[in-house]
Amino acid sequence: MTEINVKEAERAMELFRQAGALLKGHFLLTSGRHSDTYLEKSLVLQYPRFVDELSAMLAEKFAADKIEVVVGPAVGAIVLAHGVARVLGTRAIFTEREGGRCVLRRGFSLAPGERTLVVEDVVTTGGSVREVIDLVRATGADLVGVGCLLDRSGGRTDLGVRTAFLAQIEAPSWLPADCPLCAAGVPLTSRGSRHI
Ligand SMILES: [Zn+2]
Repeated sequence: MTEINVKEAERAMELFRQAGALLKGHFLLTSGRHSDTYLEKSLVLQYPRFVDELSAMLAEKFAADKIEVVVGPAVGAIVLAHGVARVLGTRAIFTEREGGRCVLRRGFSLAPGERTLVVEDVVTTGGSVREVIDLVRATGADLVGVGCLLDRSGGRTDLGVRTAFLAQIEAPSWLPADCPLCAAGVPLTSRGSRHI
């Protein structure tokens, strides 16, 4: 279950483009596949005013939910969790990986029944945000929902909890042998050389 608002989606994508976080070209992905789109998501979070605006849009979706704490997975969502928590007037904490597991460290904790919002920057398969969801539930905290900037799963993500995305992006990818850009003789783009 997702909620997307067209005007917010356009604005969010505009901020990603302005930050140079959404690139068009012919890219070699770390998976070995080729794509015409590359998302360098951290670039949008380097601008505090962009973080503030994106955070305000996400926070507004949960403004009536009496959120008590915002939690996001390190590293990408630390800044975002802070931004959302600032708007909601709550504290913000983050999860980390330890021995391959998603954990709370540094004295961070969630209390049983505490109304908790999980935030994430981008969901592709939903794997990492599911681990945070499992962790929150294991503490006995009350998981209210998930707020995420971008859905790049093509709308296929079902996290089993109320989920709000600001925008969806389509990012097709192909095996090199099937890549239409290779077939057209388009040279591979070095990252950052072209913006949409
Ligand atoms: Zn190609």
